[in-house]
Amino acid sequence: MVSRSLSRAGRARPASAAELVAAALRYAALGIAVLPLHTPAPTGRCSCRDGAECASPGKHPRLRHGLLDASTQSAQIRAWWQRWPYANVGLATGTVLEVGDIDTGAALRTVLDLLDVVRPPGPLIRTGSGWHLWYAGSGLPSRVGLLPGVDWRGRGGLVVAPPSLHASGARYTFQQPWTPGSGLPACPPVLRRLVLPDPTPTPVTAASPIADLDRYTEAALAGELERIRHAPRPLIRGGRRVAGGGRNDALNRAAFRLGQLAARHAVDEAAIRRRLTEAALSAGLGRTEVQRTISSGWRAGLAHPRR
Ligand SMILES: [Zn+2]
Repeated sequence: MVSRSLSRAGRARPASAAELVAAALRYAALGIAVLPLHTPAPTGRCSCRDGAECASPGKHPRLRHGLLDASTQSAQIRAWWQRWPYANVGLATGTVLEVGDIDTGAALRTVLDLLDVVRPPGPLIRTGSGWHLWYAGSGLPSRVGLLPGVDWRGRGGLVVAPPSLHASGARYTFQQPWTPGSGLPACPPVLRRLVLPDPTPTPVTAASPIADLDRYTEAALAGELERIRHAPRPLIRGGRRVAGGGRNDALNRAAFRLGQLAARHAVDEAAIRRRLTEAALSAGLGRTEVQRTISSGWRAGLAHPRR
């Protein structure tokens, strides 16, 4: 669930010229190439030649070569903001920074569910009507529509950064700050898999027929399979299990969460059970235990649908 503090757009006075250039210089000092963007007027009209007709007011470069001209040089940046003191601050993505660009509250909830977090681990930016999640650059391409309402700004991408002004009159703001000393979080594997265009298909065998799972279910399942594979092995001393059972807990939890999903969303139960079983068996659990755990977790999940 997206808390009220996450859903509030930042409506404050527009940033001053000094604040804009200071922010641009700070990003550049962290190695992110910066570029000046057009500025929306309070009426939503863009400062570009298209004015009120502009399709992306305040979101596109003022420079002739656009992203190619983005720079980390402070002298260059000062010169740009001297020329256009109220230029919005654009950041080139794909090297230091990659961004999950989320359009709606529903899309944000989906992403947080997939990540299994209440709040994302790193910087969270409120845009005019959506959110940006900032991650460390990891060579991912840009991709549109990895989930409904979610794009990825990777190589060759551009984002508008705080404290720029949105055409709606809202200011781009950090709802969770970036503490530069701590670095940006790595892109979680579950998002990474959605961004990469063609993951190696699972070889088709009798044991794993093609399952027609949608991307959301596939991503949720992949995240759970990963947790099962990485769950701690039990610690055996003197023939007795003294700690652990982490894999069975992970399996139970996975079955529960996927059952919750199934309660709200048409999924192929047989395909999911097969994949959970394969992962659990290869993590060393016994077949009987696996079937029992999946069945009880799944039933409990069905009985407690996700909101
Ligand atoms: Zn424009």
